Amino acid sequence: MSSTQAITADVFQAFQAFFPGASQVASYVDGKLLAGTGEVVALKQASTGADSVSYPDGGAPAAQAAVAAALAGQAKWWALTHAQRGRILFAVGQRVRARAEELARLESLTSGKPIRDCRGEAQKVAEMFEYYAGWTDKVYGDVIPVPTSHLNYTRREPIGVVLQITPWNAPMFTAGWQIAPAIAMGNAVVLKPSELTPFTSLALAALAEEAGVPVGVINVLAGYGHTIVPAALATRQVEKAVFVGSVPTGAKVAANAAQHLVPCVLELGGKSANIVFEDADIDRAILGAQAAIFAGAGQSCVAGSRLLVQRGIHDAFVERFAAGAARIRVGDPQDDKTEVGPICSQRQFEHVRGLIASAQQEGARLVGTPEPFDGDGYFVRPTVLAGVTPEMSIARTEVFGPVVVVIPFDTEAEAIAIANDSDFGLAGAVWTRDVGRAHRVAAGVRAGTFWINGYKTINVASPFGGYKQSGYGRSSGIDALREYTQVKSIWVETAAEPATAFGYL
Ligand code: NAD
Repeated sequence: MSSTQAITADVFQAFQAFFPGASQVASYVDGKLLAGTGEVVALKQASTGADSVSYPDGGAPAAQAAVAAALAGQAKWWALTHAQRGRILFAVGQRVRARAEELARLESLTSGKPIRDCRGEAQKVAEMFEYYAGWTDKVYGDVIPVPTSHLNYTRREPIGVVLQITPWNAPMFTAGWQIAPAIAMGNAVVLKPSELTPFTSLALAALAEEAGVPVGVINVLAGYGHTIVPAALATRQVEKAVFVGSVPTGAKVAANAAQHLVPCVLELGGKSANIVFEDADIDRAILGAQAAIFAGAGQSCVAGSRLLVQRGIHDAFVERFAAGAARIRVGDPQDDKTEVGPICSQRQFEHVRGLIASAQQEGARLVGTPEPFDGDGYFVRPTVLAGVTPEMSIARTEVFGPVVVVIPFDTEAEAIAIANDSDFGLAGAVWTRDVGRAHRVAAGVRAGTFWINGYKTINVASPFGGYKQSGYGRSSGIDALREYTQVKSIWVETAAEPATAFGYL
């Protein structure tokens, strides 16, 4: 068996664990696999560069079928009681837990993400459904004390059909992150994962149905964004679009949605500042800053990709940080010990490689790693670039790879100014033992998530989203429930002899 045949067989076997008898990767619409008819999406295995599975794009036909299925599914779903929906969501969480190892393997094989990260993410997905299960009957309206003889009350109702578009860096995690609050509030979803990584999103849809979610409530489209998304929006039956991905694509989706007056939530990129003061616990700061940028091979929207270090400790810090980075275990994603896997696709690998080269041309200095590239696959070693100034393009552009720039600063005010000198505003962190300073910096940095003496913890219960070009709207916790509902105001006349005057009462 050639390596290509072996990879294809492995991926297919892992996929068929969720779709027994499936003959190819396809969209999942109205409870069935729906084969695409468009251009073939040919995938490569990230850790070897060898050919992997290919499948035809679902394109407009799949998009139209999915929206129709979601409309019908939403009516069935909303007809259940809130408590019934809650019990079903909890059952989805339980089913994800029961199949977590298989989900993790499928994710790792198809995205290049280390298996240990995928195991953790599968548990997080289960947690998301369990968390929102408890919310299905706890989001309701108010009674408004109006100054007339009316009873005025509000209902929080579902939006209807929601289009969700997700990227390749954490496919299963992001699918759960978006699907769970949407369906908890009674919506149906049409999810368009990245064409590179549709597998675990498809599996989640099938598992959700086994747990009792009616057919048509979760539809997953395998294929390209530029064919599927405009076709879904053009049906005029999508009432909200939630996009997770890069700034340029997010802007395209928002512009397209605006033509149909469809509101959007945008979760976009970042270039987050991780600020280390001289008084920090340096050992913890070094480990925290390594995880902040190198976990997931830097393919993380919140990655701490700008490391701001106070000048007095700068040189010693950079030396120890780079030495630690060189010890990080980079390798086969299927190996339990691997900490950093390959970049997900050849295109992104070339992009990262190009940005490292142009940073060096701009004057950035590679510290510790003599050669950032390794092996046949799309591996990039943890890469530390020093001698960087805030004006350089490497300090301003999102790399989305394991590449950190180190920038020195002198004062607290300067650190905040450098942190805010960015188009992005997704996340940031500060490392210091000074409590007052920690809170001043947290308040001063313009970002949707901020950590003090830590990095990267996010939780389904806590709001998540961006400032500035990192997007708008919030995707978790109570704020997500607001995004996935709309408010209706209902007026009931209670007077024995109601006023009948024209005009507003
Ligand atoms: P991308 O923008 O290339 O793709 C995201 C999605 O958009 C994919 O499903 C893709 O198929 C689709 N798409 C592509 N072209 C389209 C078009 N013309 N119309 C409609 N849809 C289209 O992003 P990516 O490269 O997959 O992911 C990396 C980016 O995602 C990074 O910028 C990263 O920061 C961002 N991201 C943000 C968050 C967050 O929550 N803020 C989370 C993860 C990733």
